[in-house]
Amino acid sequence: MPLANHSSSMPVTVDPEKCIAAKGCTVCVDVCPLDVLAIDEARGLAYMRYDECWYCMPCEADCPTGAVKVAIPYLLR
Ligand code: SF4
Ligand code: SF4
Repeated sequence: MPLANHSSSMPVTVDPEKCIAAKGCTVCVDVCPLDVLAIDEARGLAYMRYDECWYCMPCEADCPTGAVKVAIPYLLR
């Protein structure tokens, strides 16, 4: 049986196929007011460093490749 190697409940996910952090993009990190996001330099990908998201959305809106997806909890919609 395959096992998930990461939490599926992370509110912010980054599509590794789309993220261009390896080319120097840091837009999502720069726009996040809470410094929730960071760049994993080894993998060349943005990732969620702290689960403290406020669902303010600029990371998803401003990512130039549409790699960021913010899953807003049902109760906040
Ligand atoms: S803004 Fe998008 S492409 Fe740029 S580092 Fe963040 S997730 Fe990757
Ligand atoms: S939704 Fe807002 S708080 Fe959450 S990761 Fe994106 S910019 Fe940061």
